[in-house]
This record gives sequence, structure tokens and C-alpha cells, in this order.
Amino acid sequence: MSGVAPSREGCVTMGPSGRPTFCHIDLGALRWNFRQARKKIAAGVKILSVVKADAYGHGASRIARILEDEGSDAFGVATVEEGAELRQAGIGAPIVVLAGIYAEQLEEVVKNGLVPVICDLEMLRRVDAAAVERGHTLKYHLKVDTGMGRIGLLASEIASWSLSLRAPRALKLEGVLSHFAQAESVSGEYTQRQLKSFLSVLEHLKGDGHDPVVAHMANSAAVITLPQAHFSLVRPGVMLYGIYPAPHMTDDIELKPVLSWKTRILQLKKVPQGSRISYRGTFVTEKESLIATLPVGYADGYNRLFSNRSEVLVHGERAPVVGTVCMDLTMVDVTAIREVRPGDEVVLVGKQGGQAIAVGEMAAWANTIPYEILTSIGARVPRYYEDL
Ligand SMILES: *Cc1c(COP(=O)(O)O)cnc(C)c1O
Repeated sequence: MSGVAPSREGCVTMGPSGRPTFCHIDLGALRWNFRQARKKIAAGVKILSVVKADAYGHGASRIARILEDEGSDAFGVATVEEGAELRQAGIGAPIVVLAGIYAEQLEEVVKNGLVPVICDLEMLRRVDAAAVERGHTLKYHLKVDTGMGRIGLLASEIASWSLSLRAPRALKLEGVLSHFAQAESVSGEYTQRQLKSFLSVLEHLKGDGHDPVVAHMANSAAVITLPQAHFSLVRPGVMLYGIYPAPHMTDDIELKPVLSWKTRILQLKKVPQGSRISYRGTFVTEKESLIATLPVGYADGYNRLFSNRSEVLVHGERAPVVGTVCMDLTMVDVTAIREVRPGDEVVLVGKQGGQAIAVGEMAAWANTIPYEILTSIGARVPRYYEDL
């Protein structure tokens, strides 16, 4: 990205527009996390890196290129458009479209060499018909629902659909996959039941003469804690970005956060006791206060639920967000912090001095999960990449 390059500390003065709200993406941390994932799996097991939703908000093209360089065997996206974007970025590895496709998208799928995930017999029939009509042949992966209750053919009803997999004339079954519903307790009872169900699906398919070359089920949590679920391919997502699927997994693997999110103080203002801050005056100063306004708001993905709840780092200290978060601006109380000036760096996520705010902590403020925080950071927040 052009504009102002990161300094050695990865600290940027201004974005291309001059607005100093940006994300810093540490590609060294990304490489590290990928290598930790590799260490968790047996030799010969392949890695499909999940880079859907713009690589969890980190920028899919750049992230995928680094991961391909690290030896990622394949990539997972949610949509055909996301797959096409990776091809345009020069990604040559197989790309699996995890969230299903529509028959109308067949040309794009074929043109970009994407592997669709097919999740029911109707989709199988339609895509096959479209492929036959246009003279294409393609491989697909079949999604089986072992207890996620989302897309996929019900594992419990396999006797009713297995033989129908013989019908397609232009589609070849290359893989079978399923997805865990409880990443945070991956070794728990429900997870074990899903795994058993998946194993019996594979057994049944074999009995009916199907011969998929890959089976895959492991998300990040299973990569870290459930080797029985690794099969021949694993699908890590969130761990690549340095986020632990569950807090207790810090003992199992060392991950490094890839993204930090920073800004600078736009205005600093001393206000008298009793001043109402922001819309509807949900915060009133109890004494004369120093209020810093930050050029970031919910339109940037700084969640409105952070109002009167979240904290930011200023001079290595925590400062509370006061009043409601606005679309483009947010106020923090810096009364307790010494010698604050306009233009001073503010860390929303990441480290400053001895303090750190993790994506997980931020997620808790909005009663959500790190995935949603990361994928909500808006398009108007530039991402700067640093590869050490
Ligand atoms: C998002 C996704 C993953 C990755 O999950 P993480 O918890 O981020 O590791 C794996 N498989 C499928 C089908 C997904 O949709």
C-alpha cells in the first residue's frame, strides 16, 4: 500500500487520506502462527488456510500470498467472489468455496479453478446439470452435517442420500467435510459424537463405492487439541491470525496476534464538571476532565456497544471510553494520564508500553467473539503490512 510507510515500531503517522486510524498487520506473526499449526499435525497432513471474509479482516490477497509462501497447501473462502480475488492475487493453490455455490456461478467457478462445497442433493443436481450443459467437468467436496445444524447433508440420513452421489455426470467427489459446533470444548462429549458420526459417514461412503481422496473436519480448535480429527487435511482459520479458539488453549500452543489497531488523538479538550459527553449524555463528568476525541467510530467497526465500556491505551496506560461511540468519532477520558497531547498515539487493539488490549478482551466488551471484532473492522481503515 502506498502512503506513509510504517516505521521500525510499525507506527504510522497518517493513512493515505491523512486520517491516522489504521491497522498494522504483522506478517512475521502470521508466518509464526502458520508454523505452529504445522507443528501440531503429522507429516503428510495438508493445511487448507481459511481466508474467508477478507482473511478475517486482515486482507485476503496479502495474507494468502504469505501463507502460500509458507507452504499452505490450499485455501478456504466463503464465496466464489472471494476465490476469484485470490486468483487475481496470483494464488495458484487449490481454493475451496466453503459456504456453497449457486448454479449461476458455475462459469466463475470453472474459470477460476475453484472447488465448490456442495451441501445438498438439489445443489448437486443443479450444478451438475449446468456443468453438463456447458461441457465442464469439476471436482467438488461434499458437506455433511454431523451436528452443526447448518449446511450439509444430515449424517444420520446417509442411507437415503449416499447412492444419489453416483448420479452426477460432470462432477467428481474429491472430498468430504464436516464442521464442529463447539470449538471451545473441542474434546468434549458433543465434539466426540460429531467425530464418530463423521467416521461412520466415511465408512458408509466407502461401502457404497465412493472414493473421496480427502476428508477434513478440523478447525483451529481441533488442530490444536484433537489430533483424531486431523485426517489428511486441516482447516485452521482464527489461529493463523494469532487468536486462541478458547482461552485455556494458551497452554497448548504459542500464537502471536497479527493485527493491531491504532489511531491518534484528534482533539483534546478540558471540560468542566457536569459536562455531558456525546449523544444523549450517557456520560457526565464528575469533575473537571480532559477528554480526547479519537477519529474512529462504529462505521470503522469500533462497536457502539463499547460506549462507556471499552478502554484504549494512551502513553501505555488504560483510558476509558466515555459516552456513546459515534459513527466516526469516539471520546476517551485521559484526565488521569500525564502530558497527553493532540496527535498522541492511541492503541485500540495491541500493545503500548507494558499494556496490551487483546481482540478477545475487546470482544468481551461487546458481548461477542474475536471473529466478529476482526471481520467488522471497516474498509475505510487502511491495513499496513510489515514483514519482518
Ligand atoms: C471458518 C471455517 C473454518 C475455520 O474455523 P476457525 O475456528 O477460524 O479455525 C473451518 N471450516 C469451515 C467450514 C469454516 O467455515
